[in-house]
Amino acid sequence: MAYRAPVADLRFLLGSVLGTDRLTASERFAEATGETVDAILAEAARLAETVLAPTRRAGDETPARLENGVVRTSPGFAQAYRAYAEGGWVGLAASPGHGGMGLPLTLATCVGEMAAGANLALSLCPLLSQGAIEALEKHGSDELKALYLPKLVSGEWTGTMNLTEPQAGTDVGAVRSRAEPGPDGTWRITGQKIFITWGDHDIAANICHLVLARLPDAAPGTRGLSLFLVPKRLPDAGGEPGPANSLRVVSLEHKMGLHGSPTCVMSYEGATGWLVGAPHGGMAAMFTMMNNARLGVGVEGVGIAEAAYQAALAYARERRQGRSPDADEPGIVGFPDVRRMLVAMRAATVTARAIALDCAFSLDMAAAIGDPAWAARGALLTPIAKAYGTDTGCEVAALGVQVHGGMGYIEETGVAQFYRDVRVTPIYEGTNGVQAMDLVGRKLADGGAAARALLAEIAATAAGEPEGRLAAAAAALATATDWMLAAEPDDRFAGAVPYLRAFALTLGGHYLVRAAAADHAAWAALRDFHLHRTLTETAGLCAAACEGAAGLYAVDLAF
Ligand SMILES: Cc1cc2nc3c(=O)[nH]c(=O)nc-3n(C[C@H](O)[C@H](O)[C@H](O)COP(=O)(O)OP(=O)(O)OC[C@H]3O[C@@H](n4cnc5c(N)ncnc54)[C@H](O)[C@@H]3O)c2cc1C
Repeated sequence: MAYRAPVADLRFLLGSVLGTDRLTASERFAEATGETVDAILAEAARLAETVLAPTRRAGDETPARLENGVVRTSPGFAQAYRAYAEGGWVGLAASPGHGGMGLPLTLATCVGEMAAGANLALSLCPLLSQGAIEALEKHGSDELKALYLPKLVSGEWTGTMNLTEPQAGTDVGAVRSRAEPGPDGTWRITGQKIFITWGDHDIAANICHLVLARLPDAAPGTRGLSLFLVPKRLPDAGGEPGPANSLRVVSLEHKMGLHGSPTCVMSYEGATGWLVGAPHGGMAAMFTMMNNARLGVGVEGVGIAEAAYQAALAYARERRQGRSPDADEPGIVGFPDVRRMLVAMRAATVTARAIALDCAFSLDMAAAIGDPAWAARGALLTPIAKAYGTDTGCEVAALGVQVHGGMGYIEETGVAQFYRDVRVTPIYEGTNGVQAMDLVGRKLADGGAAARALLAEIAATAAGEPEGRLAAAAAALATATDWMLAAEPDDRFAGAVPYLRAFALTLGGHYLVRAAAADHAAWAALRDFHLHRTLTETAGLCAAACEGAAGLYAVDLAF
């Protein structure tokens, strides 16, 4: 089944549900007119369908490999990446001053979803470059920006993100890599990093590693971390890739999925690096990169969910078993339980998509008009977009395998690849447990102001929903929010995951009620499915969220 980019859905959500045309009224995004958005979506769809998607299977079947210290990528990846870079897609949202198009993150999010749905393993490479671009734009010196940004924005060079070490995963503060001062204002970086996505490859001329390390006088923990730009090849006087830096790929991981994405163990051996941001300011700079990447990873889940849904629907229409009760649909799609799975896949995909787009839109509004309320809205939505987007990717890919029956378990259908590829997304870029803790910790630390503002928006939508189902969910969520604000940290963290899911499902109801109000014929039935059969979970999730931690420790895990 060939991947088809969901352009109509994206356009409808942007225009009729989120009202993103408000961005065009701002000076910053004045050029993002309806015609520009349509043209970009159409062109990105063409790229995803005809260039990226055809290489997806090759990435799975012929993984990236390490040959004499150099990573060789999967067949077709170099050409597909070149088309992506030459189309200007890496720099879609980057500042025009460095060769970017300066378009909204909302639009880049649409493109990111299509790229992920078409070929997730390959799409990670430009996604990491985009994180590096944002970190350098916000925290890099003028010299670093002038030298590196044009190359990263054009896709000529790529970026990576180096946090993880064997003892430092979720606990980033445990990073041990060291930075010693060099004679010329540069730094010598030494240490081992693991799990570095696209840490080496043969599809671009240079790689800009952003590496967390400690200065000699660093305090322990995250406060003592600094961020460095460490290029694979040191730029020469003309800014072209010169001599090799003192770093190497030690090995590649053998993974459950994402075989086309080289996941590297990296060794920095006195490598030359440049400080990005202030000394000991590494976490602030890295957070810029991680927030961008968290939304981007949520969108990876949405992209795979869409691709898995399309494949399952196509199969269900063709596959015959017994007598379908639906005279118009002789395939298994006519059976109520298969229908249940397909509708659940569609509803979850579209609600996760709407959350991700709303998150991007909020961040764009904050950038366009400088209103801190929009920034807080975007920050609140980021962990929800990451966790719900990736959980949805996993759930929908699993249902996709189920719809295929035994054939789903056989590699040649390609749907097992969706399931294997997407499984890492709830783990990397901060596990989904960490996202939920971020939601009930940092994101409620404003006394709940941003959460209450969003709940008020949902309540306003709910006023137009005659059955009162959305209003009931919003009320349960408001009560759970008050409980979270008053609870001790461990009690909050014990209920953080069900609280985040309840929030996501309620937001899903909000978007679907708005979608049905805008186009009743197309969206009312999906709205009703969500309100009647999924949103009903919210009451149970909110109750579980407010149970506290003690009961978890009361269970004897030895039996
Ligand atoms: C394919 C792949 C690609 C990756 N790419 C990159 C990359 O490009 N750059 C990079 O730097 N890293 C990368 N990573 C690393 C990734 O970000 C980490 O694996 C992730 O942050 C989790 O860290 P960990 O694996 O050490 O798990 P751990 O931190 O050991 O976590 C194990 C479990 O404990 C839970 N846990 C840990 N601490 C807490 C806590 N305080 N409270 C509650 N629960 C907790 C976690 O949620 C998880 O369920 C990648 C990983 C993979 C698998």
